[in-house]
Amino acid sequence: MQSIDANVIQALEFAARRHRGQFRKGIKKSAYINHPIQVMSVLVRHQEHDSNLLKAAALHDVIEDTAKNPEEIQTLSQTIEWEFGEEVLKVVHEVSDDKNLPFLERKRLQIVNTPELSQRAKKIKIADKTCNIMDMMDDPPVNWSTDRKLEYLRWAEQVIEGARGSNPALEAFFDQTRKKAYRQFIQDNAE
Ligand code: NDP
Ligand code: ZN
Repeated sequence: MQSIDANVIQALEFAARRHRGQFRKGIKKSAYINHPIQVMSVLVRHQEHDSNLLKAAALHDVIEDTAKNPEEIQTLSQTIEWEFGEEVLKVVHEVSDDKNLPFLERKRLQIVNTPELSQRAKKIKIADKTCNIMDMMDDPPVNWSTDRKLEYLRWAEQVIEGARGSNPALEAFFDQTRKKAYRQFIQDNAE
C-alpha cells in the first residue's frame, strides 16, 4: 500500500481553486479540474508515484490558464514555490506555454523544446497529450472539424517524439490512444 503525500492533495485543492469557473472546450462543459485529475490518474496507473511529479501534474495548467500577465505569473509562481517547492515550480514552468506568443509559434516551440525537458516534465507532456486525445474522442472542442482533430494528433505525435525514453508503458498508452483516436476520426469522416 502506497502512502499518500498530503501535499499532493493540497496541490490538487490549489489547482481546483485556481481553475474554479473554467470548463473544458467540449459540449459537455466538464469542469476544468477534471483534466489535471485525469493526468494524475494516468501517471499513477503507469507506476508514477513521485510526489513532485504528481504535484506538478495537478498544477500543470495553472500558470498557463489562470494567470493573465507577467505580474500575475510572478505572484502565482512565488505561491507555488512557497507551498509546493522549487522543483514543482520548475516543472510547472517547463510544461507551460507562453500564451503571449502566436498560436503557431507556441505549437512549434513545444516540438523544439520537449527533448530538452526534465524527465518529470516529459512524463507530464505524455500524460497530458494522452488525456487531451481521450477528451477529443469523448467530448471534442466545439466546432473542431475532423481535419483539425487529425492535425492535433499529428502535432501531438511530433511533441511526444521528443519525450520518449521516460516511461515505455506510458508511451505505449499514448500510442494506443492516438491510434484509436485516428481510427475514430477517420471513421467519423467517412459516415
Ligand atoms: P488548441 O486550440 O489547439 O486546443 C487544444 C487544447 O485545448 C488541448 O491541448 C487542451 O490543452 C485544451 N482542451 C480543452 N478542452 C479540450 C477538449 N475537450 N478536448 C481536447 N483538448 C481540450 O490550443 P490552445 O488552447 O493552445 O489554442 C488557443 C487559441 O488559439 C484557441 O482559441 C484557438 O482556437 C486559437 N487558434 C487556432 C488556430 C487553428 O487553426 N488551429 C489558429 C490560430 C488560433 P490543455 O491541456 O492545456 O487543457
Ligand atoms: Zn493539460
